[in-house]
Amino acid sequence: MEFPDPLYESPYLQTRRMCLVCAQKHAESVLRTTDREIVPLCKDCAADWNIYGYLILKRIKPGRLIWRTLVFKTLHPFQQPSLRIIWQDMKALQAWAAKMKKWT
Ligand SMILES: [Zn+2]
Repeated sequence: MEFPDPLYESPYLQTRRMCLVCAQKHAESVLRTTDREIVPLCKDCAADWNIYGYLILKRIKPGRLIWRTLVFKTLHPFQQPSLRIIWQDMKALQAWAAKMKKWT
């Protein structure tokens, strides 16, 4: 039987990232599994993670996330992260969510 990948918060971010929960601020920490980073979090969303845990991930709606990402890039056009990095983060989250779904 395959076990789900639990997430834990790490204050160590390898690159500059956008928070995937609100998609409005730069991330300051990241939720990760043992082998990869899954959800970059800003300070506010990290505080919510400490209170609500996995429930905050339910706030992530694909359509809204894409829309807000475009707004975020319009506001910070020349800053990291690039759209490519944000896109990779979304893919990693999607893959993780699919794995968890299969298990539950
Ligand atoms: Zn956030």
